[in-house]
Amino acid sequence: MVGAGLSGAVIGRKLAEAGHSIVVCDERNHVAGNCYTERDKDTGVLVHVYGPHIFHTDDEEVWSYVNRYETFMPFVNRVKTTSGGRVFLLPVNLHTINQFFDKTLRPDEARDFITSIADNSIEEPKTFEEQALKFVGRDLYEAFFKGYTVKQWGCSPTELPASILKRLPVRFNYDDNYFFHRFQGMPENGYTGMVEKILDHERIELRLGHRFTRAESEAFDHIFYSGPLDGYFDFELGRLGYRTLDFERFYYDGDYQGCAVMNYGDLEVPYTRITEHKHFSPWEKHEKSVCYREFSRACEEGDIPYYPIRMADEKALLQRYVERASQEQKVTFVGRLGTYRYLDMDVTIREGLDTADAYLRSLAAQQPL
Ligand code: UDP
Repeated sequence: MVGAGLSGAVIGRKLAEAGHSIVVCDERNHVAGNCYTERDKDTGVLVHVYGPHIFHTDDEEVWSYVNRYETFMPFVNRVKTTSGGRVFLLPVNLHTINQFFDKTLRPDEARDFITSIADNSIEEPKTFEEQALKFVGRDLYEAFFKGYTVKQWGCSPTELPASILKRLPVRFNYDDNYFFHRFQGMPENGYTGMVEKILDHERIELRLGHRFTRAESEAFDHIFYSGPLDGYFDFELGRLGYRTLDFERFYYDGDYQGCAVMNYGDLEVPYTRITEHKHFSPWEKHEKSVCYREFSRACEEGDIPYYPIRMADEKALLQRYVERASQEQKVTFVGRLGTYRYLDMDVTIREGLDTADAYLRSLAAQQPL
Protein backbone atom coordinates (compact mmCIF):
# COMPACT_ATOMS: atom_id res chain seq x y z
CA MET A 1 0.00 0.00 0.00
CA VAL A 2 1.72 3.20 -1.06
CA GLY A 3 0.16 6.08 0.87
CA ALA A 4 -1.32 6.03 4.37
CA GLY A 5 -4.26 8.28 3.53
CA LEU A 6 -7.86 7.14 3.37
CA SER A 7 -7.39 4.94 0.28
CA GLY A 8 -4.37 3.06 1.61
CA ALA A 9 -5.89 2.62 5.06
CA VAL A 10 -9.27 1.36 3.85
CA ILE A 11 -7.88 -1.04 1.25
CA GLY A 12 -5.12 -2.22 3.58
CA ARG A 13 -7.57 -2.93 6.40
CA LYS A 14 -9.95 -4.89 4.22
CA LEU A 15 -7.18 -7.04 2.75
CA ALA A 16 -5.60 -7.58 6.17
CA GLU A 17 -8.96 -8.77 7.51
CA ALA A 18 -9.12 -11.19 4.58
CA GLY A 19 -5.83 -12.71 5.78
CA HIS A 20 -3.24 -10.84 3.70
CA SER A 21 -0.05 -9.36 5.12
CA ILE A 22 0.09 -5.69 4.30
CA VAL A 23 2.80 -3.05 4.31
CA VAL A 24 1.54 0.54 4.25
CA CYS A 25 4.20 3.15 3.56
CA ASP A 26 4.06 6.91 3.33
CA GLU A 27 6.77 9.44 2.64
CA ARG A 28 5.28 11.73 5.29
CA ASN A 29 5.93 10.97 8.91
CA HIS A 30 2.23 10.76 9.71
CA VAL A 31 -0.88 8.90 8.53
CA ALA A 32 -4.15 10.33 7.15
CA GLY A 33 -2.75 12.16 4.10
CA ASN A 34 -4.30 15.56 3.58
CA CYS A 35 -7.06 14.98 6.14
CA TYR A 36 -4.41 14.84 8.88
CA THR A 37 -5.44 16.73 12.01
CA GLU A 38 -3.35 17.61 15.06
CA ARG A 39 -3.77 19.58 18.27
CA ASP A 40 -2.13 22.98 18.25
CA LYS A 41 0.40 23.02 21.07
CA ASP A 42 -0.39 26.52 22.33
CA THR A 43 -4.18 26.53 22.18
CA GLY A 44 -5.21 22.85 22.19
CA VAL A 45 -7.39 23.49 19.12
CA LEU A 46 -7.73 20.58 16.71
CA VAL A 47 -6.20 21.89 13.49
CA HIS A 48 -6.96 20.59 9.99
CA VAL A 49 -3.34 20.92 9.00
CA TYR A 50 -3.80 20.58 5.22
CA GLY A 51 -7.02 22.58 5.10
CA PRO A 52 -10.58 21.92 6.22
CA HIS A 53 -12.17 18.50 5.79
CA ILE A 54 -15.85 18.07 6.57
CA PHE A 55 -17.23 14.58 6.38
CA HIS A 56 -20.51 14.22 4.49
CA THR A 57 -22.06 11.33 2.62
CA ASP A 58 -25.24 9.70 1.36
CA ASP A 59 -23.62 6.29 1.49
CA GLU A 60 -24.92 4.46 4.55
CA GLU A 61 -22.24 1.80 4.43
CA VAL A 62 -19.48 4.42 4.34
CA TRP A 63 -21.11 6.32 7.19
CA SER A 64 -21.27 3.22 9.37
CA TYR A 65 -17.69 2.37 8.35
CA VAL A 66 -16.26 5.65 9.64
CA ASN A 67 -18.41 5.50 12.76
CA ARG A 68 -16.90 2.12 13.56
CA TYR A 69 -13.49 3.74 14.02
CA GLU A 70 -14.35 7.13 15.47
CA THR A 71 -17.23 8.91 17.16
CA PHE A 72 -18.69 11.44 14.77
CA MET A 73 -20.02 14.60 16.36
CA PRO A 74 -22.85 16.61 14.82
CA PHE A 75 -21.50 19.27 12.50
CA VAL A 76 -23.20 21.16 9.69
CA ASN A 77 -21.05 23.21 7.36
CA ARG A 78 -22.54 26.69 7.10
CA VAL A 79 -20.25 28.79 4.97
CA LYS A 80 -20.29 32.58 4.81
CA THR A 81 -18.81 34.79 2.16
CA THR A 82 -17.60 38.37 2.27
CA SER A 83 -18.16 40.28 -0.94
CA GLY A 84 -18.13 44.01 -1.65
CA GLY A 85 -17.84 44.81 2.06
CA ARG A 86 -20.87 42.72 3.06
CA VAL A 87 -21.32 39.25 4.51
CA PHE A 88 -23.69 36.71 2.92
CA LEU A 89 -24.67 33.09 3.43
CA LEU A 90 -23.62 30.32 1.08
CA PRO A 91 -24.65 28.30 -0.80
CA VAL A 92 -26.80 30.89 -2.56
CA ASN A 93 -30.17 30.54 -0.85
CA LEU A 94 -33.27 32.64 -0.25
CA HIS A 95 -31.52 34.61 2.47
CA THR A 96 -28.61 35.40 0.17
CA ILE A 97 -30.93 36.47 -2.64
CA ASN A 98 -33.12 38.67 -0.45
CA GLN A 99 -30.16 40.27 1.27
CA PHE A 100 -28.18 40.80 -1.90
CA PHE A 101 -31.06 42.38 -3.84
CA ASP A 102 -32.62 44.01 -0.76
CA LYS A 103 -35.91 42.16 -1.25
CA THR A 104 -38.36 40.07 0.78
CA LEU A 105 -39.16 37.39 -1.80
CA ARG A 106 -40.87 34.11 -1.01
CA PRO A 107 -39.54 30.90 -2.65
CA ASP A 108 -41.67 31.02 -5.83
CA GLU A 109 -41.08 34.72 -6.27
CA ALA A 110 -37.34 34.26 -5.85
CA ARG A 111 -37.31 31.47 -8.42
CA ASP A 112 -39.14 33.70 -10.92
CA PHE A 113 -36.87 36.60 -10.10
CA ILE A 114 -33.69 34.58 -10.63
CA THR A 115 -35.09 33.20 -13.89
CA SER A 116 -35.73 36.78 -15.00
CA ILE A 117 -32.13 37.86 -14.35
CA ALA A 118 -30.43 34.62 -15.46
CA ASP A 119 -29.05 34.17 -18.95
CA ASN A 120 -31.69 31.93 -20.51
CA SER A 121 -30.02 31.89 -23.91
CA ILE A 122 -27.52 29.32 -22.62
CA GLU A 123 -29.01 25.87 -23.17
CA GLU A 124 -26.21 23.46 -22.37
CA PRO A 125 -23.69 25.24 -20.14
CA LYS A 126 -20.20 24.02 -20.93
CA THR A 127 -18.03 26.36 -18.91
CA PHE A 128 -18.11 27.42 -15.28
CA GLU A 129 -19.14 30.92 -16.32
CA GLU A 130 -22.00 29.72 -18.52
CA GLN A 131 -23.23 27.48 -15.74
CA ALA A 132 -23.21 30.40 -13.29
CA LEU A 133 -24.87 32.87 -15.68
CA LYS A 134 -27.61 30.37 -16.46
CA PHE A 135 -28.34 29.53 -12.83
CA VAL A 136 -27.85 32.78 -10.89
CA GLY A 137 -27.30 35.58 -13.40
CA ARG A 138 -24.43 38.04 -13.72
CA ASP A 139 -24.70 39.99 -10.43
CA LEU A 140 -24.55 37.00 -8.11
CA TYR A 141 -21.95 35.35 -10.31
CA GLU A 142 -19.65 38.36 -10.11
CA ALA A 143 -20.15 38.84 -6.39
CA PHE A 144 -19.67 35.26 -5.23
CA PHE A 145 -18.11 33.10 -7.91
CA LYS A 146 -16.02 35.02 -10.39
CA GLY A 147 -13.32 36.46 -8.13
CA TYR A 148 -13.21 33.42 -5.87
CA THR A 149 -12.82 31.07 -8.82
CA VAL A 150 -10.09 33.14 -10.49
CA LYS A 151 -8.18 32.99 -7.19
CA GLN A 152 -8.89 29.32 -6.61
CA TRP A 153 -8.06 28.05 -10.10
CA GLY A 154 -5.75 30.78 -11.43
CA CYS A 155 -7.67 31.14 -14.69
CA SER A 156 -10.84 32.62 -16.08
CA PRO A 157 -14.11 30.78 -15.28
CA THR A 158 -14.65 30.74 -19.06
CA GLU A 159 -11.82 28.17 -19.25
CA LEU A 160 -13.15 25.90 -16.49
CA PRO A 161 -15.68 23.09 -16.86
CA ALA A 162 -19.27 23.59 -15.67
CA SER A 163 -18.86 20.51 -13.45
CA ILE A 164 -16.89 22.49 -10.83
CA LEU A 165 -19.82 24.78 -10.09
CA LYS A 166 -22.27 21.90 -10.14
CA ARG A 167 -20.83 20.98 -6.74
CA LEU A 168 -22.69 24.00 -5.32
CA PRO A 169 -26.50 24.15 -5.15
CA VAL A 170 -28.79 27.20 -5.40
CA ARG A 171 -31.65 26.98 -2.92
CA PHE A 172 -34.99 28.75 -2.89
CA ASN A 173 -35.48 28.30 0.83
CA TYR A 174 -33.50 29.30 3.93
CA ASP A 175 -31.44 26.12 4.10
CA ASP A 176 -27.80 27.18 4.35
CA ASN A 177 -26.34 23.71 4.85
CA TYR A 178 -23.45 23.62 2.37
CA PHE A 179 -24.02 19.95 1.61
CA PHE A 180 -27.03 17.94 0.43
CA HIS A 181 -26.03 14.67 2.03
CA ARG A 182 -28.01 12.81 4.68
CA PHE A 183 -25.01 12.22 6.93
CA GLN A 184 -22.57 14.91 8.03
CA GLY A 185 -20.23 15.17 10.99
CA MET A 186 -16.77 15.62 12.40
CA PRO A 187 -14.61 12.94 14.03
CA GLU A 188 -14.50 13.77 17.74
CA ASN A 189 -10.72 13.46 17.99
CA GLY A 190 -9.85 14.30 14.42
CA TYR A 191 -9.16 12.26 11.30
CA THR A 192 -5.68 11.19 12.36
CA GLY A 193 -7.01 9.00 15.17
CA MET A 194 -9.62 7.52 12.86
CA VAL A 195 -7.06 6.54 10.23
CA GLU A 196 -4.69 5.20 12.91
CA LYS A 197 -7.47 2.93 14.12
CA ILE A 198 -8.27 1.72 10.60
CA LEU A 199 -4.59 0.85 10.19
CA ASP A 200 -4.36 -0.81 13.60
CA HIS A 201 -4.40 -4.48 12.60
CA GLU A 202 -1.97 -7.27 13.38
CA ARG A 203 -1.31 -7.95 9.70
CA ILE A 204 -0.61 -4.31 8.81
CA GLU A 205 2.94 -2.98 9.06
CA LEU A 206 3.23 0.78 8.85
CA ARG A 207 6.36 2.42 7.43
CA LEU A 208 6.23 6.18 7.84
CA GLY A 209 8.82 8.57 6.45
CA HIS A 210 9.44 5.99 3.74
CA ARG A 211 9.55 7.02 0.11
CA PHE A 212 8.45 4.19 -2.17
CA THR A 213 10.53 3.34 -5.22
CA ARG A 214 9.41 1.07 -8.03
CA ALA A 215 12.35 -1.22 -7.33
CA GLU A 216 10.60 -2.29 -4.13
CA SER A 217 7.70 -3.80 -6.08
CA GLU A 218 9.55 -7.13 -6.37
CA ALA A 219 8.94 -7.81 -2.70
CA PHE A 220 5.14 -7.65 -3.02
CA ASP A 221 2.36 -9.59 -4.78
CA HIS A 222 0.51 -6.40 -5.54
CA ILE A 223 0.89 -2.64 -5.09
CA PHE A 224 -1.98 -0.24 -4.41
CA TYR A 225 -0.56 3.14 -5.25
CA SER A 226 -2.23 6.30 -3.98
CA GLY A 227 0.62 8.69 -4.76
CA PRO A 228 0.58 10.96 -7.83
CA LEU A 229 0.05 8.96 -11.02
CA ASP A 230 2.65 10.95 -12.96
CA GLY A 231 5.11 10.62 -10.07
CA TYR A 232 4.93 6.83 -10.27
CA PHE A 233 6.30 7.05 -13.82
CA ASP A 234 8.92 9.64 -12.82
CA PHE A 235 6.98 12.27 -14.79
CA GLU A 236 8.29 10.73 -18.01
CA LEU A 237 5.37 12.04 -20.09
CA GLY A 238 5.28 15.42 -18.31
CA ARG A 239 3.60 16.76 -15.19
CA LEU A 240 -0.12 16.68 -14.50
CA GLY A 241 -1.24 20.13 -13.35
CA TYR A 242 -2.38 20.77 -9.82
CA ARG A 243 -3.26 23.74 -7.68
CA THR A 244 -1.48 23.86 -4.36
CA LEU A 245 -2.49 25.76 -1.23
CA ASP A 246 -0.47 27.94 1.13
CA PHE A 247 -1.81 28.46 4.62
CA GLU A 248 -0.90 31.51 6.64
CA ARG A 249 -1.52 30.50 10.23
CA PHE A 250 -2.43 33.17 12.74
CA TYR A 251 -3.65 33.26 16.31
CA TYR A 252 -6.39 35.31 17.88
CA ASP A 253 -7.30 35.80 21.49
CA GLY A 254 -11.04 35.13 21.29
CA ASP A 255 -13.41 34.43 18.42
CA TYR A 256 -11.91 35.82 15.21
CA GLN A 257 -14.77 35.48 12.72
CA GLY A 258 -17.60 33.65 14.49
CA CYS A 259 -17.74 30.76 12.02
CA ALA A 260 -15.56 27.96 10.66
CA VAL A 261 -15.34 29.09 7.02
CA MET A 262 -15.47 32.62 5.62
CA ASN A 263 -14.96 32.83 1.86
CA TYR A 264 -13.77 36.00 0.16
CA GLY A 265 -15.46 36.66 -3.19
CA ASP A 266 -13.48 39.78 -4.13
CA LEU A 267 -10.48 39.43 -6.38
CA GLU A 268 -8.72 42.27 -4.52
CA VAL A 269 -8.47 40.10 -1.38
CA PRO A 270 -5.57 37.75 -2.17
CA TYR A 271 -6.77 34.76 -0.16
CA THR A 272 -9.79 32.61 -1.01
CA ARG A 273 -10.98 31.97 2.52
CA ILE A 274 -10.21 32.06 6.22
CA THR A 275 -10.87 28.99 8.32
CA GLU A 276 -11.12 29.22 12.11
CA HIS A 277 -10.37 25.75 13.32
CA LYS A 278 -12.00 25.74 16.74
CA HIS A 279 -15.36 26.12 15.01
CA PHE A 280 -14.83 22.75 13.32
CA SER A 281 -15.09 21.21 16.81
CA PRO A 282 -18.00 23.20 18.28
CA TRP A 283 -18.40 20.74 21.15
CA GLU A 284 -14.98 21.79 22.52
CA LYS A 285 -14.47 25.07 24.32
CA HIS A 286 -11.36 27.12 23.56
CA GLU A 287 -10.69 30.73 24.44
CA LYS A 288 -7.87 31.16 21.96
CA SER A 289 -8.18 30.65 18.26
CA VAL A 290 -6.08 29.29 15.38
CA CYS A 291 -6.96 30.49 11.89
CA TYR A 292 -5.68 29.84 8.38
CA ARG A 293 -5.66 32.32 5.56
CA GLU A 294 -5.79 30.14 2.47
CA PHE A 295 -4.01 31.04 -0.77
CA SER A 296 -4.18 29.00 -3.95
CA ARG A 297 -1.48 28.90 -6.64
CA ALA A 298 0.00 26.69 -9.36
CA CYS A 299 1.71 23.62 -7.95
CA GLU A 300 5.45 23.54 -8.63
CA GLU A 301 7.93 20.75 -8.12
CA GLY A 302 8.22 20.04 -4.40
CA ASP A 303 4.81 21.55 -3.51
CA ILE A 304 1.93 19.50 -2.16
CA PRO A 305 -0.58 18.74 -4.93
CA TYR A 306 -4.17 19.54 -3.89
CA TYR A 307 -6.68 20.13 -6.67
CA PRO A 308 -6.20 18.39 -10.02
CA ILE A 309 -6.67 20.84 -12.88
CA ARG A 310 -8.71 18.81 -15.31
CA MET A 311 -8.66 21.00 -18.37
CA ALA A 312 -8.20 19.81 -21.96
CA ASP A 313 -4.36 19.61 -21.88
CA GLU A 314 -4.32 17.79 -18.56
CA LYS A 315 -6.99 15.36 -19.69
CA ALA A 316 -4.98 14.48 -22.80
CA LEU A 317 -1.88 13.89 -20.69
CA LEU A 318 -3.91 11.94 -18.14
CA GLN A 319 -5.15 9.68 -20.91
CA ARG A 320 -1.56 8.87 -21.86
CA TYR A 321 -0.67 8.08 -18.25
CA VAL A 322 -3.79 5.93 -17.89
CA GLU A 323 -2.66 3.91 -20.91
CA ARG A 324 0.80 3.57 -19.38
CA ALA A 325 -0.78 2.53 -16.07
CA SER A 326 -2.92 -0.16 -17.68
CA GLN A 327 0.28 -1.98 -18.69
CA GLU A 328 1.34 -2.33 -15.05
CA GLN A 329 -0.02 -5.77 -14.12
CA LYS A 330 0.86 -5.62 -10.45
CA VAL A 331 -0.23 -2.09 -9.66
CA THR A 332 -3.65 -0.58 -8.96
CA PHE A 333 -3.80 3.22 -8.94
CA VAL A 334 -6.20 4.55 -6.33
CA GLY A 335 -7.43 7.73 -4.65
CA ARG A 336 -7.28 11.42 -5.51
CA LEU A 337 -3.63 11.49 -6.62
CA GLY A 338 -3.48 7.98 -8.10
CA THR A 339 -6.45 8.65 -10.38
CA TYR A 340 -6.07 12.44 -10.68
CA ARG A 341 -9.62 13.30 -9.62
CA TYR A 342 -11.28 15.81 -7.27
CA LEU A 343 -12.51 13.28 -4.67
CA ASP A 344 -14.49 13.83 -1.51
CA MET A 345 -13.54 11.69 1.48
CA ASP A 346 -16.67 9.51 1.35
CA VAL A 347 -16.09 8.68 -2.31
CA THR A 348 -12.47 7.81 -1.55
CA ILE A 349 -13.60 5.38 1.14
CA ARG A 350 -16.32 3.86 -1.06
CA GLU A 351 -13.82 3.32 -3.86
CA GLY A 352 -11.30 1.86 -1.42
CA LEU A 353 -13.83 -0.70 -0.16
CA ASP A 354 -14.83 -1.59 -3.72
CA THR A 355 -11.22 -1.84 -4.90
CA ALA A 356 -10.36 -4.25 -2.09
CA ASP A 357 -13.46 -6.35 -2.86
CA ALA A 358 -12.60 -6.50 -6.55
CA TYR A 359 -9.05 -7.57 -5.74
CA LEU A 360 -10.24 -10.32 -3.41
CA ARG A 361 -12.71 -11.55 -6.05
CA SER A 362 -9.99 -11.63 -8.69
CA LEU A 363 -7.79 -13.73 -6.40
CA ALA A 364 -10.66 -16.10 -5.65
CA ALA A 365 -11.35 -16.50 -9.36
CA GLN A 366 -7.73 -17.57 -9.97
CA GLN A 367 -7.82 -20.23 -7.31
CA PRO A 368 -8.99 -23.73 -8.14
CA LEU A 369 -12.17 -24.64 -6.23
N1 UDP B 1 -16.79 28.64 -5.46
C1 UDP B 1 -16.95 30.00 -5.64
N2 UDP B 1 -17.20 30.79 -4.56
C2 UDP B 1 -17.31 30.29 -3.31
C3 UDP B 1 -17.16 28.91 -3.12
C4 UDP B 1 -16.89 28.11 -4.22
O1 UDP B 1 -16.83 30.48 -6.74
O2 UDP B 1 -17.54 31.09 -2.37
C5 UDP B 1 -16.48 27.81 -6.63
C6 UDP B 1 -14.99 27.56 -6.78
O3 UDP B 1 -14.64 27.59 -8.14
C7 UDP B 1 -14.82 26.18 -6.21
C8 UDP B 1 -16.12 25.49 -6.60
O4 UDP B 1 -17.11 26.54 -6.53
O5 UDP B 1 -13.70 25.50 -6.75
C9 UDP B 1 -16.50 24.32 -5.74
O6 UDP B 1 -16.62 24.75 -4.41
P1 UDP B 1 -16.37 23.81 -3.17
O7 UDP B 1 -16.77 24.53 -1.96
O8 UDP B 1 -16.97 22.48 -3.46
O9 UDP B 1 -14.77 23.70 -3.20
P2 UDP B 1 -13.80 22.93 -2.18
O10 UDP B 1 -14.42 22.91 -0.85
O11 UDP B 1 -13.63 21.57 -2.76
O12 UDP B 1 -12.58 23.76 -2.24
